[in-house]
Amino acid sequence: MIKFLDLQKINLQYQQEIQEKLNQVFRSGWYLLGKEVNNFEKDLAQYIGVNNAIGVANGLDALRLILRAYKESGFMKDGDEVIVPSNTYIASVLAISDNNLVPVFIEPNLNTFNLDISKIEEKVTPKTKAIMIVHLYGQIVFSQELKELAKKYNLKIIEDNAQAIGAEYQGIKSGALGDAAGFSFYPGKNLGALGDAGAITTNDQELVQTIRAIANYGSAEKYVNKYQGLNSRLDDIQAAVLDIKLKYIDKENQKRREVADFYLKNINNPNIELPSIEDCIQSKQHVWHLFVVKSKQRDNLQKYLTDNNIQTLIHYPIPPHKQAAYSQYNRLSFPIAESLSDEVLSLPISSVLQKDETEKIVEVINKF
Ligand SMILES: *Cc1c(COP(=O)(O)O)cnc(C)c1O
Repeated sequence: MIKFLDLQKINLQYQQEIQEKLNQVFRSGWYLLGKEVNNFEKDLAQYIGVNNAIGVANGLDALRLILRAYKESGFMKDGDEVIVPSNTYIASVLAISDNNLVPVFIEPNLNTFNLDISKIEEKVTPKTKAIMIVHLYGQIVFSQELKELAKKYNLKIIEDNAQAIGAEYQGIKSGALGDAAGFSFYPGKNLGALGDAGAITTNDQELVQTIRAIANYGSAEKYVNKYQGLNSRLDDIQAAVLDIKLKYIDKENQKRREVADFYLKNINNPNIELPSIEDCIQSKQHVWHLFVVKSKQRDNLQKYLTDNNIQTLIHYPIPPHKQAAYSQYNRLSFPIAESLSDEVLSLPISSVLQKDETEKIVEVINKF
């Protein structure tokens, strides 16, 4: 079986370095918000090209905390609207509704899968306070037009950067394009921990202080609680692993680009539509967290690949507005997101996928 993602193999590449480091952390006797977290925050901020990175418990918390901080600072209030793509992963939307804010869905471009920036302005109302862009599947969605739109209506740009660490837009990394960004280091992400972990990056110093306090029970000073906060900490074990793996992220992403390039050049089945990229394949605008193809016969294709020992996944089978959790939006119609949920299929892609495996995948797919 060719696995969709061989996490064991990815992490074994760094086994010795990680084990030595984990031994040190174990012996240090300090396990939360310690030296390792501090080091990782500094290294991540430097890598992304921002002044601050804050380690938190997971990617959903990163997004929740950003919005919560904008509420605590008075920039947003209950009922305000946040623009978000209609085909995103549920976590982007949960972060919004969890803060008593209202998601306003915008359809994606049918070929890039990313939010269609030209459709934003018509949905802006006096209640709109932010645009949550999602660099879906690893491809950056950004433009000068988006920046100007945000400026014109005084909207924050929040990046859901869970899938695109390392991607660059005109020399600026995702995570440094907007006002604040949320990262996930869920084990299966391009930069994966050995458990849950997340981070926020921003150049907004005031936001940093508010987020750090909210994530620490709402307290900046011990036993003095300014906010009704939560507990969302990054632990030193995860930070130590992430700090090691961060050194290799560019190399890992480059390998993903090579796999994507091979698929794009060699899959030539008329029943399968390949993903479009905004820029050329050599550009750094895409880090290929997922390689997503489309087919009108998606379910048959998936079964055929499984029968041929190739594991695939669907990202995502049900769009957020059709979920039972969001029954109030079930009657809304987002035909592009809905058709994508019926047609998308994610092929295996990772830094450890071997040449003979990609060759087999292409050969099998072209015979479908
Ligand atoms: C993974 C993911 C998240 C959530 O991250 P967790 O660490 O699993 O909480 C948010 N948004 C997107 C687009 C993701 O892919």
